[in-house]
Amino acid sequence: MSGESVLGCAPAAQPQVLRERGQREVFCGLTGIIWMHRKMQDAFFLVVGSRTCAHLLQSAAGVMIFAEPRFATAIIEERDLAGMADCQDELDRIVDKLLTRRPEIRTLFLVGSCPSEVIKLDLGKAAQRLDAKFAGSTRILNYSGSGIETTFTEGEDACLTALVPEMPSADADKAANLLVVGALPDIVEDQFKRLFDELGIGPVHFLPAKRMAELPKVGPNTVFLLAQPFLTETTGALQRRGAKRLDALFPFGAEGTTDWLRAAAEAFGIDRMHFNRVVAPGRERAKRAIAHWRERLEGKRITFLPDSQLELPLARFLHTELGMMPVEVGTPYLNRELNARELALLPASTRLSEGQDVDLQLDRVRLDRPDLTVCGLGLANPLEAEGLSTKWAIELVFSPIHGFEQAGDLAELFARPLRRRDILRV
Ligand code: SF4
Repeated sequence: MSGESVLGCAPAAQPQVLRERGQREVFCGLTGIIWMHRKMQDAFFLVVGSRTCAHLLQSAAGVMIFAEPRFATAIIEERDLAGMADCQDELDRIVDKLLTRRPEIRTLFLVGSCPSEVIKLDLGKAAQRLDAKFAGSTRILNYSGSGIETTFTEGEDACLTALVPEMPSADADKAANLLVVGALPDIVEDQFKRLFDELGIGPVHFLPAKRMAELPKVGPNTVFLLAQPFLTETTGALQRRGAKRLDALFPFGAEGTTDWLRAAAEAFGIDRMHFNRVVAPGRERAKRAIAHWRERLEGKRITFLPDSQLELPLARFLHTELGMMPVEVGTPYLNRELNARELALLPASTRLSEGQDVDLQLDRVRLDRPDLTVCGLGLANPLEAEGLSTKWAIELVFSPIHGFEQAGDLAELFARPLRRRDILRV
């Protein structure tokens, strides 16, 4: 496949952005089901896809032997692709069977895939029809996890966007409420809840909620903090319901987490002294934990290949708190508005790239020879074979990395591959 690169114009004092369109090496949006199904405990994800989709889910999630699974693939067979069977009837039959056997399911997501998009199977229509049929017991929603022109964290964005219209309306005369948007591990969610409580900020809700019945209200008095930088569509959907986004760094590291909490504290009029008192112990713990890894990471050069859309905030964290030097920071999509604060803290020498043409990008990595390259699984082994240290981008999505208590672990995730290489060299 041939690719193209374009150097885009950026506002003054911001690094230029290299825009590339070509072959990409990323997982698809179905991957998000792995962490979303753990979070939403009465939801079920039914992928309408191929055997490839089923294999991806099984290998990414591991095989569950004892638990009742909460995701599955309705496989589109060859005869369906040839248009010989009515897929909508077949889908109705599968959903009927599933919900009869599993009445505890409160939300059923019909998840589109490359094959369902290619044969133009209208899952929106299917969701509407089935939702009417199961009204009162199970909500049937749909979104796409297809890998056509998308990257894997967009699966979460699409899933949360589908949930926004389901959120009840909050009365306009009610007091302000805070919504934290983006799936977080339970342990991190609990830590943030405690901090908001101590600060006196509330009520605070999280999207996604653990159960459909707990889906928070939204309205003009809702302010929200993004916990993840890849939620562009969800942000738009919440803003259309009247909610306002609080601009902040993403909660990675001591400084990112402080800035994120401060945005909420300012929106709720919390006294600055009180804020400092509450935040100081966690911030200091985070700083100490980060300092432990600074010696190993300081001055090391790092390249991010476009993958999870976490690249910008992580590069900012590694630069400002650990002294690493970003060489190239690639991201599948560059949302300047959501990342404005992050961009401002990257050194001017950083080469920013958006999209991917994998061969051109690997050529740049070989020329740059960074100390560490963060990339997808498929690219890590070939780069290691060429003597370059790598870190799997997907590990950063599956690990608890947000907040003060995880800041040291986050730094360690980058230090570990360098330490491994040092040990191998001895
Ligand atoms: S949705 Fe597309 S990219 Fe993802 S597993 Fe299925 S066929 Fe592959």
